[in-house]
Amino acid sequence: MEFQGGEPLLAFGRVRQIVEWVVERNVVEQRDIQFVITTTLHHLTEEILNFAEQNRIQFSTSLDGPAPLHNANRPTPSRDSYERTVKGIQWVRERLGHDSVSALTTLTSRSLEQPEAIIDEYVSQGFSSISLRPLSPYGFASKSAHRLDYPIERYLTFYKKALAYLLHINQQGSYLSESYTSLLLKNILTPFSSGYVDLRSPAGAGTAALVYNYDGYVYPSDEARMLLEMGEDGLRLGTVKQPLSELLASPVLNALLSSGVAEGLPGCSDCALVPYCGADPVEHYARQADPIGHRVFSSFCKKNTGLLKYLFGLLCDGDDNVQRVLLSWLNRRSYNDVRFPGYRG
Ligand code: SF4
Repeated sequence: MEFQGGEPLLAFGRVRQIVEWVVERNVVEQRDIQFVITTTLHHLTEEILNFAEQNRIQFSTSLDGPAPLHNANRPTPSRDSYERTVKGIQWVRERLGHDSVSALTTLTSRSLEQPEAIIDEYVSQGFSSISLRPLSPYGFASKSAHRLDYPIERYLTFYKKALAYLLHINQQGSYLSESYTSLLLKNILTPFSSGYVDLRSPAGAGTAALVYNYDGYVYPSDEARMLLEMGEDGLRLGTVKQPLSELLASPVLNALLSSGVAEGLPGCSDCALVPYCGADPVEHYARQADPIGHRVFSSFCKKNTGLLKYLFGLLCDGDDNVQRVLLSWLNRRSYNDVRFPGYRG
């Protein structure tokens, strides 16, 4: 269960109430529930950390790179967004342990010019994973799209540079994996699905995730909810007052599922990469106003084609050092612990 904003710590009373209800109900239900709060960490308090400690709550924050880049991406009146987030990261680690906080990167247009600086920042902050995801076309970010957005081809150039640098520093002894690459590697190299909602077929939106918004409406994914910020409410499943069975039977979910099996979609059905890819009808609805979408014009398709082909190239080009790093990400082990030629044999 993940709490996202806006800024969830500004409504901590509600977060506390929900966690307490879930914990109380779970005495009977006995489910394996993990709580995550996605936050800038700017409004952290002792009280929040105490509650997080009692309920094993994890934190997820945004760190876009070194101070000038982070502060430019996330302006605040006091211009100290980076400093407050880094202080929050240290505070969470001191109280709850090093791995109680993870970070995500938002890549704006200016980020694409500095892959090494972003990666160095994650190394110096002691993270073991970095997420180099392209800018989402939804929500608040779309209002500034002309300034921040970029074509997916630019992202792919950035990704290749960033991945080369990541491979280099991992070989030098710093463990830092790229999370989307790890998910794709799991899809490619193991018989198991990564489980990542965007890379599922049938689509994961609504079946693997539900989003309860502050206005009481329920959406199939965070991206569907964020479309609201663009004035688009067509992806509502229902309201918080409806039972799960009704939400899952909603016409919106039916439409998403009928366009959410990649193996049956035009373009994907005869694509060699379909076993490792996904359908993502919400992304296609957001970008093309059609949950099926046209793969020739699809950024999702361009991104996954570019990344998957590149990864296959790395896996097949015979460089043992590169392959050891990629396998270490898959197994979450250090480069030196990956025995070769274990992968081939
Ligand atoms: S790479 Fe493109 S065409 Fe191939 S499965 Fe993915 S989205 Fe479909």
